[in-house]
Amino acid sequence: GRKFLVGGNWKCNGTTEEVKKIVTTLNEAEVPPEDVVEVVVSPPFVFLTLVKSLLRSDFHIAAQNCWVRKGGAFTGEVRLNIVNQTYIAVEFWSKLREFHIVMALLVMTLILAEMLVNLGIPYVILGHSERRLLLRESNDFVGDKVAYALSQGLKVIACVDRISDWTNVVVAYEPVWAIGTGKVATPTQAQEVHSVLRKWLHANVSAEVAASTRIIYGGSVNGANCRELAAQPDVDGFLVGGASLKGCHKTTKVFQA
Ligand code: 13P
Repeated sequence: GRKFLVGGNWKCNGTTEEVKKIVTTLNEAEVPPEDVVEVVVSPPFVFLTLVKSLLRSDFHIAAQNCWVRKGGAFTGEVRLNIVNQTYIAVEFWSKLREFHIVMALLVMTLILAEMLVNLGIPYVILGHSERRLLLRESNDFVGDKVAYALSQGLKVIACVDRISDWTNVVVAYEPVWAIGTGKVATPTQAQEVHSVLRKWLHANVSAEVAASTRIIYGGSVNGANCRELAAQPDVDGFLVGGASLKGCHKTTKVFQA
């Protein structure tokens, strides 16, 4: 069977104090053993090391993004001016009239897969719809990032194409209308899409990959609605945003469900 995965995506939130508080709650939470449920928390980049140093060892950590290739001479950058990158440049010229999009294209995050590995961070979330929308990350770009992250030994929580080895990939389905809106997909809706994704894997990759790859749901998941979703045969876990930050009564409930 597929091991259930619950991920907390903290997005761009938190102070040192708040992060410490959440980690303390998580450390004290009663959750099923590691071989039954895999728990992954995803703090903002600057808190990765802090969380790594405090978090219980049976929980794992994910970065929220990483760069598509090696680093180099980019003094002071966590965010890199990227207009000289070809595939971004193509999009850049075609979108010139939309000023805010141009501005978004000028800054891209430079967090290296190699550095995450070096810090002992096993996972990275790639291709989140917030990055696709705000930073215009294309399928191709996300595909390249996934390939590069996998080549460096990271596990990837992603929704992408062009993956040849699926062993370290978790697919996240997050309907954009459900993210941060309080409008969670119904269990039937989620199951329908997850089953289509699994059929796609079956037809385009292999029966083994379709059977073993975890497909997790994200979008307004909380302690009240997670049980019913988790009962669907093709829902193998969650990527939780808002509820993973809120005090942790709800969060703990999600982990326990
Ligand atoms: P919410 O749980 O806040 O809707 O966010 C979902 C999400 O985007 C997780 O990656």
